[in-house]
Amino acid sequence: MESTATRRRSTPASTAVRHTRSSTAKYADADGRTPVDGLYVVSPSEEADTQAIVAAGRGARVARRVIADARIDDGWWEEAARVFDWTRREAERDDRWADREAWVEAFEDRHAEAAPVDPDSERFRRVSEAAVDDSLSSYVSREEVEARAEAAHETLAAHLDVEAIVRAVDGTALLDAVDDDLIREHVDGEGTVPEVSD
Ligand SMILES: Cc1cc2nc3c(=O)[nH]c(=O)nc-3n(C[C@H](O)[C@H](O)[C@H](O)COP(=O)(O)OP(=O)(O)OC[C@H]3O[C@@H](n4cnc5c(N)ncnc54)[C@H](O)[C@@H]3O)c2cc1C
Repeated sequence: MESTATRRRSTPASTAVRHTRSSTAKYADADGRTPVDGLYVVSPSEEADTQAIVAAGRGARVARRVIADARIDDGWWEEAARVFDWTRREAERDDRWADREAWVEAFEDRHAEAAPVDPDSERFRRVSEAAVDDSLSSYVSREEVEARAEAAHETLAAHLDVEAIVRAVDGTALLDAVDDDLIREHVDGEGTVPEVSD
């Protein structure tokens, strides 16, 4: 996890004032914000340093704040800006949610009453469209889920102890997964095959 996260700000003066925190504010707060506009600290943090999984959770929390603040800079309001999902599985989408209009209606149902802007305004419509775009782009196909899982497994496996992998998995399956030519080369060169457990 990166220790600090910064983001570029092209903030209009009026909104810059809104995000600039008091000089007496704690450094950094629970959402990673600091007294410096646009500078967020993920780690180290007093709240989340004791365990790795808690630190990872803080990373996600701060990332959500960065996204929300970027949206607010773009005209969103807090209630709408902080609604964000990283991913949704395409396979779990039913017919209703295949229709973009259903998302527009859902945004209106959720935000129109409490929004600080007129639901008939251009700004409300623009934010609604952007929110719907974000929601729809969060869907990942089965192929993409598999590709990401494969990439993650490879990254993880690169850090594992090879002997431990050999001990943990079925030997035949392991040999099946290795290229035959590589096994032949190894046998020819070393006069023996890699030792694997059943
Ligand atoms: C002795 C000890 C034992 C622990 N045991 C456990 C345990 O058993 N289980 C558990 O879950 N957690 C344990 N923890 C806590 C765990 O290590 C942390 O929660 C976790 O490492 C936090 O992850 P992080 O990515 O936020 O920060 P870090 O792992 O500290 O990573 C921050 C990285 O940023 C780098 N960095 C810092 N400042 C800068 C800079 N200005 N520029 C560039 N790079 C910078 C640092 O060098 C470091 O590589 C232990 C911690 C300690 C000290």
